[in-house]
Amino acid sequence: MHCAEAKRPLIKFDHCKMSIYSFGVPQRCPLCQQDVGSARLEEAPISISSPLTNGHRETCSFLLRPTQGTFLREYDGQADLHVGITSTTGVVYHYTALGVQRDRAGWEQSLSVPLVQPGLFALMDQWDKYLEDFSAAGAWLPHRYEEDHHNCYSYALTFVNCVLSIEGKAQLDKSEFTEKYVLPRTRLASKYITLHRAVEEHGFYAIDWPHPETSRP
Ligand SMILES: [Zn+2]
Repeated sequence: MHCAEAKRPLIKFDHCKMSIYSFGVPQRCPLCQQDVGSARLEEAPISISSPLTNGHRETCSFLLRPTQGTFLREYDGQADLHVGITSTTGVVYHYTALGVQRDRAGWEQSLSVPLVQPGLFALMDQWDKYLEDFSAAGAWLPHRYEEDHHNCYSYALTFVNCVLSIEGKAQLDKSEFTEKYVLPRTRLASKYITLHRAVEEHGFYAIDWPHPETSRP
């Protein structure tokens, strides 16, 4: 299950002058086998929050997910990403060769970028109507789809630009959109996924403290 997979809490604690990542706090340090239960407060484990969220719980957002498979299992940092826009009720609108799709499932492991600033209630009130009207435009008929030039990104970017113009903000071109909405999230996801897979494979993952002499007060 994607949900269960994404929800295993990844934590970090310090022992043996290392930062150790694992799923939950083990009783014994995997490096020295000593009890870690008596750690001092400043060594208390911290949880590493996942950048992956259930897209069907994100309202008025831009979503990214791998075209094939899931982030945690299959994503290699290079693979194609598919994108969509959520309604206020967690329906994900996205454009494919079959036209605009409205998904109620399948985006449980997504990266999400909120598109509406908090407090813009007038925009949120109209959101589902905007999204539905926008999706009904002839530009998004199935036969207009082109894999490289008129695809899920064109659909999402054009919609984001409609929202920006309603908010009185400047439009984004494709590279600004990628720079602002896509790359920061995929970089974060790649780091988290690497860590998650290492812990999954070895049970833990340990790295040296960045500055051993000065890292602890
Ligand atoms: Zn240890």
